Amino acid sequence: MKSPLLEATALEKSYGRISVLKNVDLTIDRGEAHIVIGPNGAGKTTLFKVLSGELFPGSGAIRLEGQDITNVPDWQRVRMGIGRTFQSARVFSDLTPFENMIVAVEARARTRGGLLQLLSIRPNAENRDAARVILRDFLLETVADRPTRTLSHGDKKRLELAMAVAGKPRILMLDEPTAGMAPADRHKCIELIGRLLAKGDFSLLLTEHDMEVVFGLATRITVLNYGEVIASGAPQDIRSNARVREVYLGHELATA
Ligand code: ATP
Repeated sequence: MKSPLLEATALEKSYGRISVLKNVDLTIDRGEAHIVIGPNGAGKTTLFKVLSGELFPGSGAIRLEGQDITNVPDWQRVRMGIGRTFQSARVFSDLTPFENMIVAVEARARTRGGLLQLLSIRPNAENRDAARVILRDFLLETVADRPTRTLSHGDKKRLELAMAVAGKPRILMLDEPTAGMAPADRHKCIELIGRLLAKGDFSLLLTEHDMEVVFGLATRITVLNYGEVIASGAPQDIRSNARVREVYLGHELATA
């Protein structure tokens, strides 16, 4: 049997004396959209940070295609194919979306091309074209040349997502990608992520509160409660899981 793309085993994480992740196992298979849900304070963001390399676990192991990456920092994980976005979009506000995309496209080229590429000042035609194509795919064409700081929250989040995708990740990790979005933007975002997934270029790990997003995208759901995995499985199994309904989903699912 093929090993999972990413495999985390027995993760533990504490803040001081407070234990936030307890013996957490999680795998991400190729092509899957794995969404982590749970009540406020359950440890979702902490798990996300540990998987993306922003924090290291107290114990446990993380493997990417069998390679131990437990203590590899986040910037190196990006180079290994783990892209991510943040809860509040991290984009360059004073640059335009086009210029932001150039940064993302060139960062990818630099990873391949080594230090000499750092000296390139003017983006070449290939990178400019690549930036324009991605901006069009992410519905940002009409705002591409405005200062990014003037964009709506939804547009900024899509730009951040576009920049992460430009890095051609094998796994894309999104921390609450639709947080704070207006409903129309949320629909746009789900549809966009769904289309990207269908292309099969990468696998997805999400944390999310919005049940429309969760059940619209997930191929697998893991439920955290007080730092422990209380269920993990296909969306329909999670939906009907009595323990999950009891601790979290009862009223949320009734309306989903
Ligand atoms: P939410 O849904 O509200 O975003 P979450 O499931 O993402 O919550 P975490 O943010 O991972 O949960 O927090 C888990 C627990 O760890 C909470 O009790 C939180 O108060 C605590 N915590 C988070 N970050 C820190 C920190 N830097 N120092 C101390 N405690 C922290």
